[in-house]
Amino acid sequence: MFSQELLQIANDAERDLKDVFEELEKISFENTKRVLHYFKEHRVSDSMFGGTTGYGYDDVGREALDKIYADTFGAESAFVRHSIANGTSALTIGLFGLLRPNDVLLSVTNRPYDTLCEVIGIDGANGDGSLADFGVEYDQVDFINDKIDFEGIEKKLKEHGDRVKVVFIQRSKGYLNRPTLTIDQIGEICDFVHARSKAYVVVDNCYGEFCEDREPCHVGADMIIGSLIKNPGGGIAQSGGYIAGTKRAVELASYRLTSAGTGTEVGATLGQSRDMFKGFFLAPHIVMQAKKTAHFAAYVLERLGFDVYPRYNEMRSDIIQTVKFGYPEGLIKFCQGIQSASAVDSYVTPMPWAMPGYKDEVIMAAGTFTQGSSIELSCDGPVRPPYTAFFQGSLTYESGKLAILTATQKLLEDKNA
Ligand SMILES: *Cc1c(COP(=O)(O)O)cnc(C)c1O
Repeated sequence: MFSQELLQIANDAERDLKDVFEELEKISFENTKRVLHYFKEHRVSDSMFGGTTGYGYDDVGREALDKIYADTFGAESAFVRHSIANGTSALTIGLFGLLRPNDVLLSVTNRPYDTLCEVIGIDGANGDGSLADFGVEYDQVDFINDKIDFEGIEKKLKEHGDRVKVVFIQRSKGYLNRPTLTIDQIGEICDFVHARSKAYVVVDNCYGEFCEDREPCHVGADMIIGSLIKNPGGGIAQSGGYIAGTKRAVELASYRLTSAGTGTEVGATLGQSRDMFKGFFLAPHIVMQAKKTAHFAAYVLERLGFDVYPRYNEMRSDIIQTVKFGYPEGLIKFCQGIQSASAVDSYVTPMPWAMPGYKDEVIMAAGTFTQGSSIELSCDGPVRPPYTAFFQGSLTYESGKLAILTATQKLLEDKNA
């Protein structure tokens, strides 16, 4: 069913990606080793999976998983809960936990992820209970030529002085055209800030977990935050989020998670623990599957003449691949092709639609077992020049490869028609 030309490119891809795949396997091995080490250290057993109801006092599974997250991520403390609705909700808990009226939140990686802008009140107090409504000031330092502007950070730290309570880093490029930060780069920012300020360095770690063999807390971050329907849920966790970091920072966040004084002492797990353990156990491997798929896609699409970022042989610190199609039909056909190759809802044809909160129409492909899960293969993009698709995930490399071949075949047939 695939054209000879495409099959030849796929063969070339796997030949030329051999070293990259080997490197990814090494990272997955190291991360799996670390995860397993802490599963053993915290004596994970079947009795932890049953779950609690009501207050959830003395839930041994919840307590063990919190410690496993903390240790694996190089943090003093952590909590992970299925009841955290999504990544934005976890980030909200973290930021409201740390920030008080008159404090300054300083983002050093441009404007944060779309959904966070309302939480922060970036365009001013919005009356919806944003940080700005509570008198938390926001400021930002932009990249200069895709590089962190250390001089700019220094200037802002001087300008706001001790009022800077949180320095905010978004690890992944998210849906912006900017580089994803490596762990080394995050470490550099942490050192720079800690040498000049008492501020907490908080990292939006979404899409980054297990992409390298260390996490931001290993290199000095005070708090990291992420979503369980992305990397650390391993495609198994059904919902949730986590926060990890220093003891005090996580404690403060836990008082926003539940209530001041109560923190992580409560929280029924309602039978979700087994999936959360199993997902975390699988996560290093699943992230590798997603990354192999992304490298393969970058290779194939570049060979077909599209502008891809990052390139196939560039190592990554997140799982997102972007492709510039340059014409609307390219983006649309590609997304439709991805959907048609999904295990779930393969018969659905996604169409561009006016999604609330977005200026242009958006097309989204997501044939996922868990709604909105983006560690599963998913693809979307705003229908506006340069018609860029953002895609990420795949629970297996084999199905990811099939989806890429299916989507590119559609693209080529359409172009030749
Ligand atoms: C996914 C993501 C979030 C959170 O998004 P949700 O849809 O609320 O889970 C925040 N920041 C980044 C960089 C993300 O990729």
